[in-house]
Amino acid sequence: MSAEDGAASSTEASGPYYHLRVADVIVETADSKSIVLEVPAEFAERFSYEAGQFLSFRVEVAGHRLVRCYSLASAPGLDAGHKVTVKRVVDGRASNWMNDEVSAGDELEVMPPAGVFVLRESDQPLVLFSGGSGITPCISILKTALATTSRQIKLLYANRDDRSIIFKDELNAMLSLHADRLEIVHRLDDVHGFCDAALIVQEIGPRTDADFYICGPGPFMDVVETGLESLSVPSDQIHIERFESLDSPSAAASAPVDTADGQVVTIVLDGDETDVVAAEGETILAAARRTGLEPPFACEEAYCGCCMAKVVEGEVTMKMNDGGIDQRQIDEGWVLTCQGLVKGKVRVEYPD
Ligand SMILES: Cc1cc2nc3c(=O)[nH]c(=O)nc-3n(C[C@H](O)[C@H](O)[C@H](O)COP(=O)(O)OP(=O)(O)OC[C@H]3O[C@@H](n4cnc5c(N)ncnc54)[C@H](O)[C@@H]3O)c2cc1C
Repeated sequence: MSAEDGAASSTEASGPYYHLRVADVIVETADSKSIVLEVPAEFAERFSYEAGQFLSFRVEVAGHRLVRCYSLASAPGLDAGHKVTVKRVVDGRASNWMNDEVSAGDELEVMPPAGVFVLRESDQPLVLFSGGSGITPCISILKTALATTSRQIKLLYANRDDRSIIFKDELNAMLSLHADRLEIVHRLDDVHGFCDAALIVQEIGPRTDADFYICGPGPFMDVVETGLESLSVPSDQIHIERFESLDSPSAAASAPVDTADGQVVTIVLDGDETDVVAAEGETILAAARRTGLEPPFACEEAYCGCCMAKVVEGEVTMKMNDGGIDQRQIDEGWVLTCQGLVKGKVRVEYPD
């Protein structure tokens, strides 16, 4: 796509970010808070979402702009506001900032909902595995499935201890309303120890035909996947959301690259202009990071939209787009830089 292809019509936002007012901040546990956003009527369509999707926030922490994804813990059509729940990460920049600095009435920069970890149409049972903050997309899926289907649902929810359980009261309330088809198993590290694959197999029991949704810390997800593998559950029944913060240079970004036949990309980031050589087959994001720039990104798999930049000169093709960018944005000249390959001389601008 070239910059000339689409007229850069003005959006209601600065680049792909919309300014949304914080309607409420709710203390969930000692180390997590929910932030409820008000979506004005004119943005309602852009911010419509499916259970399990996430929002990307751009925040400024200690002079650095960071983009972070937070899953919607609210359920579409059931909850009035768009609610995300942020759990503190030790020494984490955005998560602690969100917990310490955000108050009702503030404005936050937010991208429209994205993500493919969503409730699929099916009559099969639903089994959700959540660890810690991994409950956020799962509670949205759970609420939606209870309200819109008659599926049997099981949630296994692992936490450090009883005080760390986010949405404990809400889950208990769902349980008392839907005891006939909802089962919730709490696993607490300080009481039961960590989950292992044998426990996962035991908890799945005969429900190997279920749709499985997994979200939580890496080691927890690994154990669940091992349990599912041992039962030979087909991969199309398994849905996984990874929460990793990928801010440190990835192996791909630091691997040696031959730039002899590369193309020059002028990258405008935070007002600074840098010429970078993108090697044959190297994405704009990879080239930028390899040369020491720090553009925003998260998933690197074309679904989060965090790495979006605008092509203002030249031609960029995307290897793929898994929902990270919509047609309207493409028409305006935006590309996912994690997928963007340059053709000839190109200039891209990350949003201000
Ligand atoms: C699709 C998606 C949905 C998500 N949904 C949620 C959600 O609903 N709720 C939620 O709480 N989180 C969610 N996350 C995770 C969230 O996006 C952030 O990754 C998380 O909040 C941590 O960000 P941070 O800026 O606080 O941490 P960072 O500052 O990125 O730090 C993360 C970790 O890396 C370490 N670290 C940072 N910099 C360095 C360095 N230079 N050297 C060594 N170590 C370092 C820190 O000590 C910390 O342990 C989601 C992520 C994704 C991709």
